[in-house]
Amino acid sequence: MAVLVLGGAGYIGSHMVKRLVEQGEDVVVIDNLVTGHPNAIAKEARFYQGDVRDRAFLDQVFEKETIDTVIHFAAFSIVPESMKDPLKYFDNNTGGVITLLEAMHDHGIKRIVFSSTAATYGNPEHETIKESDRQDPINPYGESKLMMEKIMHWADVAYGIKFVALRYFNVAGAAEDGTIGEDHHPETHLIPIVLQVALGKRPELQIYGDDYQTPDGSNVRDYVHVMDLADAHILAMKYLQAGHDSNAFNLGSSTGFSVKQIVEAAREATGETIPAKVAPRRPGDPDTLVAQSDKAREILHWQPKYDDVHQIIKTAWNWTQKHPNGFEDK
Ligand code: UDP
Repeated sequence: MAVLVLGGAGYIGSHMVKRLVEQGEDVVVIDNLVTGHPNAIAKEARFYQGDVRDRAFLDQVFEKETIDTVIHFAAFSIVPESMKDPLKYFDNNTGGVITLLEAMHDHGIKRIVFSSTAATYGNPEHETIKESDRQDPINPYGESKLMMEKIMHWADVAYGIKFVALRYFNVAGAAEDGTIGEDHHPETHLIPIVLQVALGKRPELQIYGDDYQTPDGSNVRDYVHVMDLADAHILAMKYLQAGHDSNAFNLGSSTGFSVKQIVEAAREATGETIPAKVAPRRPGDPDTLVAQSDKAREILHWQPKYDDVHQIIKTAWNWTQKHPNGFEDK
């Protein structure tokens, strides 16, 4: 039986594939390569290029391969882009999961682990966010993912497809060996942009707003290492394989860092100056997003190995220095 990684050529998906292969799993990858990189996919995995919205394509793969569990990363995830082009997000993310679940149902595949997001909570009710807190997104990206969670719930009720929704906070870092890492075109995420400035590929960082309701005025986020995240997916897969019910878990470090603190940590981790200036706010950004991740620790026995943001930045810096132009395939 194989594990199917949808979006396995993307940033988080490719780290997932690497970890699964390291653990001896038989891995199948689907990716449409719109944002993913073929060179990021571990050689041991069997790769099919195609789109999650293409039912005939999914049927072909499901007929050829014997899939036990689907791990789903194939989604758009850029908040500002979703504010400008919401239908792109509802089509690919929300629409895509309907086609996927229909195909899974018809082929008798009963387990899915899925990337959800802290963006489903919107502006949080409490200082740190629990899974049971109100989900009220303030951007179409978060809304598209909340809809996916709800669709999965009803697919479980009707067809018995069990799911784990993993609500990520801010994912960062790279594989320790520096072979794969984060490479988006255009890059919009904070840590890779900060490191491009450190490398001299950008003149300066723009800090999007310093008048938020936070101690230093810049947004506070909870950063989690991509390999710790991959480990959580393996634990979630095992949890479903053991016959447990559908569930949702936050994945974060439970510590918040402001944009200004990340810049400072990156200066320390790289030894570079990293010029930064305050710029206008970016649409769709909540003030603070920090997880309570005790549930994943207690129920999945998840133990993140990277508990220090400097360490996370160092792994990303290692990748950035080794691959200043990323995968060089775009
Ligand atoms: N950010 C910033 N400058 C940048 C990119 C991001 O100030 O060039 C801020 C952004 O406004 C947010 C935080 O960094 O508060 C993290 O943004 P990112 O896009 O990495 O992740 P998100 O929180 O949107 O998932």
